[in-house]
Amino acid sequence: GQSTKPPPNPSPLRSAKFFQANMRILVTGGAGFIGSHLVDRLMQNEKNEVIVVDNYFTGSKDNLKQWIGHPRFELIRHDVTEPLLVEVDQIYHLACPASPIFYKYNPVKTIKTNVMGTLNMLGLAKRVGARILLTSTSEVYGDPLVHPQTEDYWGNVNPIGVRSCYDEGKRVAETLMFDYHRQHGIEIRIARIFNTYGPRMNIDDGRVVSNFIAQAIRDEPLTVQLPGTQTRSFCYVSDMVDGLIRLMEGENTGPINIGNPGEFTMVELAETVKEIINPNVKIISVENTPDDPRQRKPDITKARELLGWEPKIKLRDGVPLMEEDFRQRLGVAKKA
Ligand code: NAD
Ligand code: UDP
Ligand code: UDP
Repeated sequence: GQSTKPPPNPSPLRSAKFFQANMRILVTGGAGFIGSHLVDRLMQNEKNEVIVVDNYFTGSKDNLKQWIGHPRFELIRHDVTEPLLVEVDQIYHLACPASPIFYKYNPVKTIKTNVMGTLNMLGLAKRVGARILLTSTSEVYGDPLVHPQTEDYWGNVNPIGVRSCYDEGKRVAETLMFDYHRQHGIEIRIARIFNTYGPRMNIDDGRVVSNFIAQAIRDEPLTVQLPGTQTRSFCYVSDMVDGLIRLMEGENTGPINIGNPGEFTMVELAETVKEIINPNVKIISVENTPDDPRQRKPDITKARELLGWEPKIKLRDGVPLMEEDFRQRLGVAKKA
């Protein structure tokens, strides 16, 4: 005989539970470089609803065009220096210009974004009981006297220099995070991000990897700022996003360094880009800007041990992926 079992009819309680199983995630600065890659990854999980707030200072809707109109996605034009009322379970707080050209353009606005923006997001986290992750920066170590940099190093930062709006701003943001944690029991996560690169970086934002790749494609000389022996460590954006999500989902507040420990001088970086993209391009020396850190390389022992994370993409593999994106946006095909 045929089964007379009735079709499943979920009780209102069960549907409410199912609904609650959805995770509502706020990403501030989600229209930017790292933020938009983070949104891509979060949207792949069907249990996530993602809300982006961004004032489009350095980001663009174009970075999120694949999600506009999606039922689990919302985009709000909003400046985080103003209060924000939304109901969410997690907050990835990225909003802040990251490139020196942009953060020095309006330094007062940069420090307001770091201080008032982070305060508002913490007030929001407190009201709704959300966990909040701050993307801090290796710049909190300043021109470091400890190499490679471990999280317990307090840094060597100029409090009144032209970069201070950014690095001191992030240091205050970290302080606010820990004070809300200690005083109000807010669940916090702090990532100290080291130089990150990849597709969707602003082409003319002045950062070294985007500069060299755009210059090599345009057949313009690669501008190594003096002395050229200063070092940086470059993390590909997919590795970065993976580290941020592991930190958010894990049990440790941080701060935790997230970056690629492969260390290069700017001359070595120029030579690598030249070899991969345009062997005929010139490399020239130009003036540097004040307070440029001489060396920077993360110690990622904590990320390895506490998050089970380490970067997978080497610079030599990441540069061609970024070249492809830049060629498309610049409309310059690779010569056969
Ligand atoms: P980005 O400039 O591409 O993105 C920042 C986003 O924040 C942009 O979309 C911008 O429009 C938005 N924004 C800026 N001020 C805002 C405000 N007041 N209100 C609302 N939105 C605002 O930079 P990114 O490289 O994606 O960096 C993201 C985060 O990671 C930043 O917090 C940055 O400090 C941090 N970080 C980045 C790097 C790196 O190498 N890219 C290194 C260390 C730390
Ligand atoms: N805030 C916000 N959204 C909220 C709750 C608070 O933007 O949902 C802002 C609020 O306007 C304040 C900041 O967060 O400027 C800090 O809030 P908190 O409640 O911690 O401090 P208070 O309002 O008591 O100064
Ligand atoms: N730099 C360079 N040529 C450029 C742009 C930057 O040599 O066209 C150098 C700069 O002097 C610094 C390093 O690259 O030592 C990284 O600079 P960037 O602005 O990318 O990031 P930072 O780590 O300083 O925030």
